[in-house]
Amino acid sequence: MKTDNSRALFEQAQAFIPGGVNSPVRAFKSVGGTPLFIKRAEGAYVYDEDDNQYIELINSWGPMILGHKHPKIEQAVLNAVQNSLSFGAPTQREITIAELIVSMVPSIEKVRMVNSGTEATMSAIRVARGYTGRDKFIKIEGCYHGHGDSFLIAAGSGAVTMGTPDSPGVTKGTAKDTLLAPFNDLEAMRKVVENNKDEVAAIIIEPVAGNMGCVLPKEGYLEGLRELCDEHGIVLIFDEVMTGFRLAPGGAQERFGVTPDMTTLGKIIGGGMPVGAYGGKKEIMDYVSPAGPVYQAGTLSGNPISMAAGLTMLSLLNENPEVYTSLDEKGAYLREGYEKSLKDLGLNYTINSVGSMNTLFFTDKEVHNFEDAKTSNLELFRKYFHAMLDRGIYLGPSQFESLFLSTALIDNDLDRIIKANHESLKEIHGK
Ligand code: PMP
Repeated sequence: MKTDNSRALFEQAQAFIPGGVNSPVRAFKSVGGTPLFIKRAEGAYVYDEDDNQYIELINSWGPMILGHKHPKIEQAVLNAVQNSLSFGAPTQREITIAELIVSMVPSIEKVRMVNSGTEATMSAIRVARGYTGRDKFIKIEGCYHGHGDSFLIAAGSGAVTMGTPDSPGVTKGTAKDTLLAPFNDLEAMRKVVENNKDEVAAIIIEPVAGNMGCVLPKEGYLEGLRELCDEHGIVLIFDEVMTGFRLAPGGAQERFGVTPDMTTLGKIIGGGMPVGAYGGKKEIMDYVSPAGPVYQAGTLSGNPISMAAGLTMLSLLNENPEVYTSLDEKGAYLREGYEKSLKDLGLNYTINSVGSMNTLFFTDKEVHNFEDAKTSNLELFRKYFHAMLDRGIYLGPSQFESLFLSTALIDNDLDRIIKANHESLKEIHGK
């Protein structure tokens, strides 16, 4: 495909923007080549500055679950714009969206709006610390919770892709309060908790990890964490920035039937606008200022345009639960197609998927944690990524990401993806 315009823009961008991008993974550094500069998108398709069309499997890293340019979300934004872009004062719409979130997400009794997933997780940890009076928290190796200092320890997503899991600028003092445990290992978690008795404020986890590729919790794992937290007075935080409103109307906690004390949200909750949120039990959330002593604020928090987009998105999902059946069916169809290709080509790679999230790992090992994910052959992924892109399929440019399907994908799109996957696997293995 001809990408001359993207190449020229990337050159130009590097003169003024660090690495040419405003978020690292976008630079295609781990897969090489020129990142696509996107001009527009509609439904299941994005169009780059050279007017190439691609089938979308990034969907803005999750938010565009109903595809691009959904007419109702677009209209809600256009209507809201007429009343000014921002007030920095409370609005009625913020109550409506808060009520809706409380009704949809099992763990949330009160919720605070912020502007990104990063803000949501940073704030949730602060509240958990304020509530318990303890300093330490436990995160899972390979999970990503945004770029807050205390989370950039063994972090997934861009942090691992860029080979800087421990970023310069994060002080030792900060890092010492972040404890680590591997995903899906209850015994290891129990040991960390017992070695730090009465010092752990929170365990934070992506209930389905999406940032080391898609990794599912083993049966009993989330339940075990719930019990451990109850036993030790630890706040259990599910980071559902990715999985919230994606795996079910109430997120992974609904799908897996385990209720945390707090939940962080982002992505879909803003319908494509910059929004995050954190919420949980009333008694915990009442620690947040001005109800309580834990300070957290935001000039643009609850922004009227963002709330209009988010409220419309969540209402659509809430009123149309068949969206989730359809996404599950699309996910299962894609998986079947991938499995058939692997079998036909005599390849033994691992596919992890749940609902509309999916990762093909270039390893024959089962992938249950970060160590397993890292056995993937990244050179093969790099070739595969470009082979798919050449066939018009736009994947996340890293092995350690999940695909995100949208309802806009029709059967013909899924068949095109399956065919491209087959041809790409064949090409990169010289078959
Ligand atoms: N938590 C999770 C689970 C995420 O996937 C992300 C972003 N991919 C974040 C937090 C951070 O969100 P943001 O990029 O909006 O700050």
